[in-house]
Amino acid sequence: MTARLLDGKVLAAELRAEVAARAAMLPYRPGLAVVLVGDDPASAVYVRNKDRAAQQAGLNAQTIRLPADTPHADLLRLIGRLNADGAVDGILVQLPLPPHIDTRAILEAVDPGKDVDGFHPINVGRLAEGSAILAPCTPRGVMKLLAAAGVSLGGSRALVLGRSAIVGRPVANLLLAANATVTIAHSRTRDLPAECRRAQVLVAAVGRPEMVTADWLADGAVVIDVGINRLPDGRLVGDCNTASCAERAAAITPVPGGVGPMTIACLLENTVLAAVARRGEG
Ligand code: NAP
Repeated sequence: MTARLLDGKVLAAELRAEVAARAAMLPYRPGLAVVLVGDDPASAVYVRNKDRAAQQAGLNAQTIRLPADTPHADLLRLIGRLNADGAVDGILVQLPLPPHIDTRAILEAVDPGKDVDGFHPINVGRLAEGSAILAPCTPRGVMKLLAAAGVSLGGSRALVLGRSAIVGRPVANLLLAANATVTIAHSRTRDLPAECRRAQVLVAAVGRPEMVTADWLADGAVVIDVGINRLPDGRLVGDCNTASCAERAAAITPVPGGVGPMTIACLLENTVLAAVARRGEG
């Protein structure tokens, strides 16, 4: 079998166009504030991409750049100001934050209605009970890729490889909400390949380059590869060996060009959802 490649770039472009069209119908410009503390080069690239995508979608985007030694109290005050600013619908604090900042306290300070990353405990809880408006962006991107691939999740056996708060757990909750029978596997799981082989849908989010190979898969499995790993030679690869997995899977996302582009598109969508939930359509 040679798997169908699930193109995240095309799907993300469609979603961005939909978001732009919906934003254009609103009598106000949905506002997104991205906060970047410090000068981590990867974070700076992500933030630039988010800002550009938001501008292109017609959102009112602002990036607030702060020095790495910004005191915790100053960052908290900034979050308070953004919470109170009626023109700001979405607040995203780029992670990781410098070590002297209490990341949990900062994420919990964001107004849950403006928490477009879906990391506030209230939104995490809503997701766990199946009633989230603002779910984290990468997991939402995973679900949109599955939907676009025509995967029927109801009653299917899904396995999520990884249990992080930003990817594994929220993906598992979204799959559960879509009526899949969900297994969450992690570093303590016994006989991981055997667990994976039972899955019709496999979502890999482990951060281990090309760990999943064809012999871990059921025939005809649908594989969503969330991993982004840079090899010593500079190449970007996922958590799955795409060429190997493609021999047995029915469909697989490439890396790059799979889940990655969906994350930013879903951030834009979350910003519009947050705006409409708070300010309405008219
Ligand atoms: P993370 O916080 O490091 O979590 C990794 C998870 O994988 C943990 O639950 C860990 O288990 C599990 N794990 C690690 N090694 C394992 C092994 N050998 N066998 C089984 N389980 C193992 O990572 P993350 O933030 O979820 O990110 C995962 C990957 O997705 C990374 O490559 C990251 O770059 C990528 N990512 C991509 C996007 C995107 O937009 N495409 C967004 C976010 C992340 P324990 O809990 O037992 O330690």
